[in-house]
Amino acid sequence: YGDYNQKIDYVFKVVLIGDSAVGKTQLLARFSRNQFNVDSKATIGVEFQTKTLIIDNKTVKAQIWDTAGQERNWGCLELEDMMVPPGGVWVSNGAIDFNTATVVSACNFILASVAYWYRAVTSAYYRGAVGAMLVYDMTKRQSFDHMARWLEELRGHADANIVIMLIGNKCDLGTLRAVPTEDAQEFAQRENLFFMETSALESTNVETAFLTILTEIYRLIS
Ligand code: GDP
Repeated sequence: YGDYNQKIDYVFKVVLIGDSAVGKTQLLARFSRNQFNVDSKATIGVEFQTKTLIIDNKTVKAQIWDTAGQERNWGCLELEDMMVPPGGVWVSNGAIDFNTATVVSACNFILASVAYWYRAVTSAYYRGAVGAMLVYDMTKRQSFDHMARWLEELRGHADANIVIMLIGNKCDLGTLRAVPTEDAQEFAQRENLFFMETSALESTNVETAFLTILTEIYRLIS
């Protein structure tokens, strides 16, 4: 009930980043609604969920943003619209002229559009974020190896004081582990990140991870 006349002291925007399929959407579903959908469909575009909690007697509204690993959003581009139409309207004599210059400029146009769009979406995503969760799948080494790149993107776009937590998700699949805890700990220490292993499926450490990052943000801001 309280939600309607509750006084909100702080709103904290936290973004989830990492490769697709590492479990970002399920971590968010677990934290905000205590749900896990076995059949989760791909996240389309960007969405956020909110959860209000009390930290140190203050009402904090956590606004957690989730996106597909960005690459899935490329659907927005409507690449078809950029392709050479049948009949070759692109060139004056009515035929498709596939000389090198045409192909190169077409490719450049597409690449420039992708880059422009990607930068716009990316900076909107990070704008105003005070926390970030860098999520990898502990059964997929590659998703951990990509953490450095995600961190670089994050540091390039986000506020310098952003609180960052490294999350190794899917710890329920312990027998398939491909990333030793020590590797992640070492990376986190070197990069000055908080670190936790979680399972959205079994609910392990999910609440703790979000509470830790939100409390840390609160300590920095208040
Ligand atoms: P996202 O692309 O990073 O948002 O990943 P999703 O949340 O869509 O999850 C990708 C897949 O991993 C889905 O099939 C989920 O059911 C599964 N998954 C997510 N979290 C866990 C977890 O903690 N344990 C296990 N075993 N599977 C998970």
